[in-house]
Amino acid sequence: MTSTPVTAIDHWISGTRVPGTSGRTAPVHDPATGQQTGEVALASAGEIDEALKTAVAAAREWRASSLSKRAAVLFAFRELLHTRTDELAAIVTAEHGKVLSDAVGEIARGLENVEFATGVPQLLKGGFSEQAASGVDVYSIRQPLGVVAGITPFNFPVMVPLWMCANAIACGNSFVLKPSEKDPSASLFLAELWKEAGLPDGVFTVLHGDKEAVDALLDHDDIAAVSFVGSTPIAKYIYERGTAAGKRVQALGGAKNHALVLPDADIEMAADAIVSAAYGAAGERCMALSVAVAVGEVGDDLVAAISTRLPKLTVGPGAAEGTDMGPLITREHRDKVAGYVAAGAEAGATVVVDGRDQQVPEEGFFLGMTLLDDVTPDMAVYRDEIFGPVLSVVRVATYDEGLALINRNQYANGTAIFTRDGGAARRFQNEVEVGMVGINVPIPVPVAYYSFGGWKDSLFGDTHMYGPEGINFFTRGKVVTQRWPDPATSTVDLGFPRTR
Ligand code: NAD
Repeated sequence: MTSTPVTAIDHWISGTRVPGTSGRTAPVHDPATGQQTGEVALASAGEIDEALKTAVAAAREWRASSLSKRAAVLFAFRELLHTRTDELAAIVTAEHGKVLSDAVGEIARGLENVEFATGVPQLLKGGFSEQAASGVDVYSIRQPLGVVAGITPFNFPVMVPLWMCANAIACGNSFVLKPSEKDPSASLFLAELWKEAGLPDGVFTVLHGDKEAVDALLDHDDIAAVSFVGSTPIAKYIYERGTAAGKRVQALGGAKNHALVLPDADIEMAADAIVSAAYGAAGERCMALSVAVAVGEVGDDLVAAISTRLPKLTVGPGAAEGTDMGPLITREHRDKVAGYVAAGAEAGATVVVDGRDQQVPEEGFFLGMTLLDDVTPDMAVYRDEIFGPVLSVVRVATYDEGLALINRNQYANGTAIFTRDGGAARRFQNEVEVGMVGINVPIPVPVAYYSFGGWKDSLFGDTHMYGPEGINFFTRGKVVTQRWPDPATSTVDLGFPRTR
């Protein structure tokens, strides 16, 4: 086998690529071949400190730029991202492994956030009350925080950074991205597009790294806020350490998303939706449906409808024509997911389709699709976020039993109900304790003008990501009470100010 050339993956500081100086690096692989393709620099605390000086200086100037200037940069960035989507999608597929159409899809959903942020002049409008008291007006403004950081997961190397940076930058902050070290190249492509769009150097910085870099960002006095997306244990850690250091933090964690299928559901439609949402991106989505809760007699038909769909799907390299599902992110993760399938079988689940037996390319980190039936809540396959192509079916007798199961789960990111009964769907929307709900919609990721966020162990902090809550997260409010010299309203009064 010929060896693949290994590219050095640098930081992006002050509008240019900067090689790391820490002496520490990590390998980056093409999951479809298993070959190392890159060597990413891992920043030290000293490098972070140095880079933040330029981010601080840039934030000071950028906050003074007019709203129309910021909107113009965002429009230009939007256009570049749109015209260069295919190049960026190829970079995503080469390091993440997802199929090209899925990579294009993630860029499209990220783009929506840029489009939302182009409306920043409207979004930052405050309120104004004339004559709140005699001769006194009151108005509110929202101001940027300064330098803010985004720490992102491997599974959406474009969309999740765009959830954060579009609004952060539109609001007048400078933004420091610490992307996943597993697929870091897309962030450098974004950096180049920002520069080409006219963003001043230093407003968008990319610092690669692992725990050392993350800790340095969390502890640094010049970082005002941290937006994080990743697994629950790390999200909790980021929230606790960041807030202890006095920062504003939103930390989105993992998920175990349930689909509740009622007996009156359109089974063919539900099966299409559940298969797409369980196995798309090899199950490596925080909104993947990993549990189907079958109510009453629907179980047998649902399992049959799902299992007949799986053999028709092709597992292979994400860049190859006709591939439906690509590899997993690393060899270790693939083996861990396969271990869950074995554990499920051992615990008594019925293995309807075993992904370990499926024909998949030998090179690379591939695993076929698994369907487990008769899964019970005490099994590890039910309890843990597997983050792989494994769908568990739990059978329950009633809607109430299904709802109680979902509401008992530690995670509460997304959920979906499949039914033809509007009343039942409406009841579910009201009673389910989950942040994002789909009604016959399997992956209810909110559009960019709403906000994204789960409940319970799927989110630490008070604000959801992007949309109106994103604008609030990246700004802080100020209220001004003003009065101009007017002899008619001037008097000495030592009492507490009252509105007269
Ligand atoms: P991860 O938690 O391992 O890593 C996320 C980020 O944290 C990376 O940048 C990583 O470098 C950093 N990190 C990892 N270990 C760290 C440590 N010990 N200390 C400090 N920083 C550390 O997550 P991942 O494997 O990259 O991504 C998959 C996870 O992300 C899944 O759990 C998935 O559900 C979750 N996710 C959640 C959402 C959401 O919106 N809720 C969206 C996408 C992904």
